[in-house]
Amino acid sequence: MAASIEQYLHTERLPHIWCPGCGGGTITSAFLRAALELDLKRQDTIVVGGIGCSSRAVGYLDFGTVHSLHGRALAFATGIKMARPDFTVVVITGDGDGAAIGGNHLIHAARRNIDLTVILFNNQIYGMTGGQVSPLTSADSIAATAPYGHIERSFDLCRLVEAAGATYVARGVAAGSVQLQRLIRDGITHKGFSFIEAISQCPTEFGKRNAPKGQVAMLEDQKDRAITVAKAAKLPPEDLAGRIITGVLHRDDEAPELSTSYAAMVDRVREVAAEEAGGGS
Ligand code: SF4
Ligand code: MG
Repeated sequence: MAASIEQYLHTERLPHIWCPGCGGGTITSAFLRAALELDLKRQDTIVVGGIGCSSRAVGYLDFGTVHSLHGRALAFATGIKMARPDFTVVVITGDGDGAAIGGNHLIHAARRNIDLTVILFNNQIYGMTGGQVSPLTSADSIAATAPYGHIERSFDLCRLVEAAGATYVARGVAAGSVQLQRLIRDGITHKGFSFIEAISQCPTEFGKRNAPKGQVAMLEDQKDRAITVAKAAKLPPEDLAGRIITGVLHRDDEAPELSTSYAAMVDRVREVAAEEAGGGS
């Protein structure tokens, strides 16, 4: 029988809880197809989720999984990676979980360049709790907590994590799942902190208040606005307003990775301790 992503799923737990037309399933499927391409083994792959619609994905995955605390997925993942640097560790989070309450963990994990892969589902809203604004809600959007329009600017999270020290930064859209699969696959094989922003659609909480409404129109809008890094580089900045730049935005394969540096430090300390013990005898 041909290999299938079903090998990584708790199919007995389906159907899932996501609303019809939600981008969460498409992004999860892109991750699982990347896992299949890389032949990831269930026994040495850990997926950590935070709290929110995106993080519910871990409940359906048959890897080692942790459904952790709100905003703390990266803290759990950091501990796992430091204890077992041989494991592949992936974090699934959302814009509320990862950029608001978990924002500090995000910038410091990026700064440390620890070998984790973060897939952040950006649907611009707190979906699970009823449509409150997140740090990625775009200005002027309507939300449960911004009924007359959101007056704040949103983060460009890719630029933020790059500035913080992430060594693989990419963006894709749910409407472009083949590209997303490739970006996630390359993020997992990159040795260092990999961050993939996956632009998602929440037709239920974001789409009910903002145009375009409905999953089909929201996906078409993603497709219309997406532009690759290579094409964007040929356009003046004014032509990029409102566009979603996709692809690998930043990559550095030379920067030291934390769990490797830590292992080298442990070796060094052991050597010093052995020398001291030898000198004292
Ligand atoms: Fe998806 Fe939004 Fe429904 Fe959550 S509320 S499952 S993000 S469509
Ligand atoms: Mg969200």
